Parts: sequence; C-alpha cells; structure tokens
Amino acid sequence: MELQGDLFENHAVNELTKELGPGFDLILTNNRRIIVSVDRNHSPARARVSRLFSMADSETIRQLSRYIIIGGKLPVAVKSFIHEKAHALAPRKKGKGKLHTKGVVYNLKDMADKVWREYFSGPMSTRITWGSWPTRTKKRARRKSIRYGTYDRDLDLVTIHPALDCPHIPQAFVEYVVYHELLHKIVPPTVGPDGAVRFHTKEFKAMEKKFDGYKKLMEWQKAHVWKALGKAPVCG
Ligand SMILES: [Zn+2]
Repeated sequence: MELQGDLFENHAVNELTKELGPGFDLILTNNRRIIVSVDRNHSPARARVSRLFSMADSETIRQLSRYIIIGGKLPVAVKSFIHEKAHALAPRKKGKGKLHTKGVVYNLKDMADKVWREYFSGPMSTRITWGSWPTRTKKRARRKSIRYGTYDRDLDLVTIHPALDCPHIPQAFVEYVVYHELLHKIVPPTVGPDGAVRFHTKEFKAMEKKFDGYKKLMEWQKAHVWKALGKAPVCG
C-alpha cells in the first residue's frame, strides 16, 4: 500500500481536527518511523500524525486525539492499530518482480536455504533476490551508507544489495546479511510507548548475535567493508 491521500483521508482528518480542537495544528506525514509526535513549542501546538491513521476507525481516532492532547502512554487501541498496519508503512512496493538469485559470485537461493536450515525450522517459504543497482546519479551520490538488505513482509521477500555480490566480500558476511533479513520475518517490529516502530528490538539483537562468527564479522565489517565495496569494477 502506498500512503497517499485517498477518500478516507478527509474523513479521518475531519474527525481528528474536530477532536483536537483549535489548540492544535494537524500535519499529516508519510514518516515511516515516527507515527505520531506533538510539538508544544508552537502555538497552536503541532501534532504530526502519520497518514496511516486515514485507515483508523472512530474509536482509534478518539483515543489518538486524547493521547495528543493529554500525553502519557500510547493508548492500547492506537498501539495495536499501528502494529496491525505497520506493514503499510513499508516503502512503495514494486510488485512481484522477477527474482534474480544467481549473482556473479554468490547464489542467494542456495545461501538462504542453507541459513534457514541452520537457524530456523519449518519449510523455507521466503523468496530472495539481488536488488538492482541504483541509477547512475544515485550511485555517485551514495557511499556514505548502503543498505545491505531489506525484508518486505507483504511480499515475504528478502532483497540483497548487489554490491555484496563481490569476491572481496566474504561469503560468511553475505550469509550474515541474509540471516539478518530473514530474522526480520521471525521477529516482527514492535511499537514503543512513544509510537515509534522498532525493527531491531532487544529480542532481534539477541538472536542476531547467535549467528556463527557474529563478532568477527562485525569487526570485519567495521575494518574492511568499505574498502571491499570500493574495489571496482565487479563491486560497482
Ligand atoms: Zn534490519
């Protein structure tokens, strides 16, 4: 789902504006991490609310307004609403594209099957693919950070950054990245009392450390990953 204005938005906005009264300016956002925030340093105060709430029912809207006005803990109804809909906050879907598993160096399907067998149980249903390279302009601008991989819960799909398909990147590191993304399937995100969605929860981090050689791989990453990624041409 894409978070955009739709038929429901006006309704939700009207309801929320009415509940909040003149003391608040309502700003709808597409922010994926902060679902609701209130800035009282302005008059009227600014309430930033994710467009996600255009899908909320009246009771959720009412509880959300109370939270914005009074503060305190995020109401349970709002929390469970966010949790239920959090998947809609994922980046825009590209649909069921073709999977590209055989890289120049690494075969992701083999890797994912191996990692799944070693660390998880039951049949492996998650699909995996190499991502595509960003456009040239983006490619030039990148480099401060790259996202090694992503997990899309709606599509049950892991996408790995093509820069990792490179002989200078150890197989164990790519396997670790695959493990990390598969772990996102096993350990779903949580919603904190402040309304922020957390993907790398305590439980997630604890399980992540169970990956064989985790500490060493993290050290390798710190010391070598940028050099390895910079080795052209195969690593882009
Ligand atoms: Zn992650």
